[in-house]
Amino acid sequence: MKIAQNTVVTVNYKLSDAQNNLIEDGAQPMVYLHGGYENTLPKIEEELDGKDVGYASTIQIEPEDAFGDYDPTLLKVEERNRLPEPLEVGMQFEGVAEGSEDEPTIFTVTEIADDKVVLDGNHPLAGMALRFELSVIDVRAATEEEIAHGHVHGAHGHHHGDEPDEGEEGDHFRSQPLQ
Ligand SMILES: [Zn+2]
Repeated sequence: MKIAQNTVVTVNYKLSDAQNNLIEDGAQPMVYLHGGYENTLPKIEEELDGKDVGYASTIQIEPEDAFGDYDPTLLKVEERNRLPEPLEVGMQFEGVAEGSEDEPTIFTVTEIADDKVVLDGNHPLAGMALRFELSVIDVRAATEEEIAHGHVHGAHGHHHGDEPDEGEEGDHFRSQPLQ
């Protein structure tokens, strides 16, 4: 089956930066709903569209097509006592960036001093060109429910039961591998 709108694609991947430093070895394949549901980077969908099981390719995606340029204004220094303990570099918190009242931003702790903490609101992969080694291992038609939800359900069939809610606590795959 060829990859097209509303197919569920399983792809092995390895992610490196432009200098070939490994970022993620993709121990788990990425499973995503193809067709503009923003389950994965548009450039990856573009590359795989129309392809079949067994297709393998390496693509490089520039920052503007991945996680954007690094924005130094998204760095902020916070009083340590405003953050929970214990605190470690690499922890992430949701906050609102200076001057933006819309979407909350995920801030990563990048430095801890005695009484101050540096928080970086950039995506950890911002400003980086990303090199993906991709290898398609499965393609199947999405179910109507998956299409309605805009995401893939569990490999062995995710059941929402009779509850009217969308049950986000279930075994939904979050197919974006980069978080
Ligand atoms: Zn669902």
